[in-house]
Amino acid sequence: MRIAIIFIAAMTLLTLTAGTGKAQKMPRTDSLKSTHKIFKTDAEWQSCLSPEAYAVTRKKGTERPFSGKYYDFWQQGIYVCVACGSKLFSSSVKYESGSGWPSFWDVVDKNAVILKKDYRLGIVRTEILCRTCGAHLGHVFEDGPPPTGLRYCINSVALKFIPAK
Ligand SMILES: [Zn+2]
Repeated sequence: MRIAIIFIAAMTLLTLTAGTGKAQKMPRTDSLKSTHKIFKTDAEWQSCLSPEAYAVTRKKGTERPFSGKYYDFWQQGIYVCVACGSKLFSSSVKYESGSGWPSFWDVVDKNAVILKKDYRLGIVRTEILCRTCGAHLGHVFEDGPPPTGLRYCINSVALKFIPAK
């Protein structure tokens, strides 16, 4: 009888341990994540994004300059987040920066993005994240044209273009 009880206790413990081991924990290290409306685990993002979009938006990668589909693309419309579909940039503020990445001098709505200091590469840059889902989009620099003087330098793979009707 005692052995049976110990066995049941051991099995219960094993089941509980296995259960917690499988559950994906939501990352809590970045306090900014609390403002995001869409949460997905790394595995979920990986399954719904292309490998290139996943590497850029979730792993903060950068596509090679002059390689993306939007750096030399001038149709009229709206650019949305590739991960969640939030409106981010309009073709009306897109310009040729010569950088090899799609460049905009403003966002559709200041609340569409989060700006965050980025200390990687040993220099201070300002990272642009989608406010809705936390996707890494690119960086903003202060060498853009008037009226803002800003250059939102964005990876093509982080964007999806919706043509104007
Ligand atoms: Zn997004």
